[in-house]
Amino acid sequence: MPDRDWDFVSLELDVAIDLEDRSLTGRAVHRLRPLGVASEVVLHAADLDIVSVTVDGAAVEAWRSLGDRLVVPVAVGPGERSVEVRYTARPTAGMYFRGPPGDAVREVWTQGEDEENRHWFPGWDYPNDRFTVRTAVTVPDGLVAVANGALVSKAPGRAAGTTRWEYALETPIVNYLVAIAAGEYRVVVEPGTPTLEHVVPVGTSDATVERSTRETRSMLDYLARLLGTPYPWTVYRQVYVQRFLYGGMENATTTVLADDYLLRDPVLDRYNADFVLAHEIAHQWFGDLVGVYGWRDLWLNEGFATYYGNRW
Ligand SMILES: [Zn+2]
Repeated sequence: MPDRDWDFVSLELDVAIDLEDRSLTGRAVHRLRPLGVASEVVLHAADLDIVSVTVDGAAVEAWRSLGDRLVVPVAVGPGERSVEVRYTARPTAGMYFRGPPGDAVREVWTQGEDEENRHWFPGWDYPNDRFTVRTAVTVPDGLVAVANGALVSKAPGRAAGTTRWEYALETPIVNYLVAIAAGEYRVVVEPGTPTLEHVVPVGTSDATVERSTRETRSMLDYLARLLGTPYPWTVYRQVYVQRFLYGGMENATTTVLADDYLLRDPVLDRYNADFVLAHEIAHQWFGDLVGVYGWRDLWLNEGFATYYGNRW
């Protein structure tokens, strides 16, 4: 893994998703500072059709696509830059579409770890840099969209019949933890510190939500006490999705879980589900709040999350 030429400070992401077409239109704005002498910015971008690139508001024509890298020339010099990329994409990885007839509800969700987020937005797709994230997701009216952090606005989208959901996370995170999900969901909110949001397919009963998520608060409180460090964010969200690739994924504030862990039947053994919930919650500290510099150290995230998840 290469070291860095730039310090990525913030990412502003604005994506409009067409669930039927399984495609998206996006705009990503990175603010970044040079760490040394750098004449170009390298962003990872796969499956992306680049529409335009600007640096500090000025159009750049000389950008190059090299494999899964987008190379943007910039004037050498100190000071913060703003690199904006407009693009369209039909992702072959990183973003997954689900819906009838094979699935109960229409939805789209993402899975970044480890280097898959480059398939739906251009970014620095290594774990050795952290930046704040502001994410807007535009989807058809009637769907619910979530992303890292707290909801800051919900307004009509540019196209008729769409809604734009905007979220912000002010604490910096690494690229693979950036995530969105949108679909025919209902959101069950548990007020408190942090606010809990259980995001489930429409039609999921209150009893199922309660049964599946009832230990969440106790897990968060227990780990905060044990670690002597409060849960880092104001919201913790668990999104149950269809045909997930794994058991769960600890995206900062917005864990994605396989819907196998929705305990629809009271006689189901809850041990496996609670094990996964606690593991992903432990990752909010180990992997999300603090993390590793390179992929070879990923076992540290997993080791601590496995240990502390089991402590609960
Ligand atoms: Zn894990």
